Amino acid sequence: MRKVVILGSGCAGNTAAIYTARANLQPLVLEGHEPGGQLSITTEVENFPGFPEGIQGPQLVENMKQQAQRFGAEYRHGKVVEAHLRERPFILKLEDGQTIQTRTLIVASGASARWLNLPNEQKLIGHGVSSCATCDGFFYRDKEIMVVGGGDSAMEEANFLTRFGKRVALVHRRETFRASKIMLERVRKNPKIELITNTVVEDIYDIEKGVVTGVKLKNVITDRITEREVDGFFVAIGHIPNTLPFTGQLDLDPDGYILSHGGARTNIKAVFHAGDVQDRTYRQAITAAGAGCMAAMEAERLLEAEGE
Ligand code: NAP
Repeated sequence: MRKVVILGSGCAGNTAAIYTARANLQPLVLEGHEPGGQLSITTEVENFPGFPEGIQGPQLVENMKQQAQRFGAEYRHGKVVEAHLRERPFILKLEDGQTIQTRTLIVASGASARWLNLPNEQKLIGHGVSSCATCDGFFYRDKEIMVVGGGDSAMEEANFLTRFGKRVALVHRRETFRASKIMLERVRKNPKIELITNTVVEDIYDIEKGVVTGVKLKNVITDRITEREVDGFFVAIGHIPNTLPFTGQLDLDPDGYILSHGGARTNIKAVFHAGDVQDRTYRQAITAAGAGCMAAMEAERLLEAEGE
């Protein structure tokens, strides 16, 4: 029986671990399927306070983990596939069949990149297909780059990638954009970016060569099919919150993000949220860390009130 289990080992989970470990609650952190969270796939982080020269994302998140371990936090690989939150102690079932019981739960499981689900997409990740311009843009110096999406992420990535690529084609499935005006304007004004609207990607080549060489595009209005040479293919179509095991138990919004019931509280007593799994607005390392602190303090206070 655990006092605190934390799901997720990104900024939110690690900060919750630091606080609950320092409160002598010996938290167990289940690292999830993307240990270290989003920071582990970024490069330079320049906006996390306290690092005037910047710090590498993986280093920052590793530092947090070590800080939590120093106070007794336990880390374990594992992903929850089933959660029983109707009564306490809560019961969590892991992928490997193991079961964990806990008196409080902090859900800091984040949000994962959404993919187009094209046949070759997953096979070419790391070989031209990416969901992270910051991580992989560097590899496409003077190359042909394509970004898919019509939101702020796609605009940000397209702009960023013009630092490296010869040209950047931004493909969006509609005529109008979800992105904010200012971000869209920046893209429109960038001479290295070509906007391709009303268009979807139907296939990515070349699975036989094991590397991205081009794409098949379809104009959704004219049905016209075209092919285009591309070296780097960046998917920026949003994120999916990792809340599947909690469906029907935790209050979620229509996209699956946890609905807050004030502070770090969910609709279930002793289950708290932290980070991107609830936050679709700010999504920053520092806000996730702050949220992890809030969740930890809530768990700590509840356990103390219960005589722990
Ligand atoms: P988003 O706003 O949800 O936009 C996702 C985009 O991907 C939409 O244009 C959507 O098209 C498209 N899309 C989704 N599924 C698709 C599919 N299967 N095939 C083709 N296109 C698909 O996501 P986001 O851009 O990641 O932004 C998320 C939040 O973070 C937003 O609130 C955004 O403002 C914020 N953000 C802010 C900044 C910033 O201010 N610096 C940077 C990044 C993100 P439709 O429009 O047709 O649905």
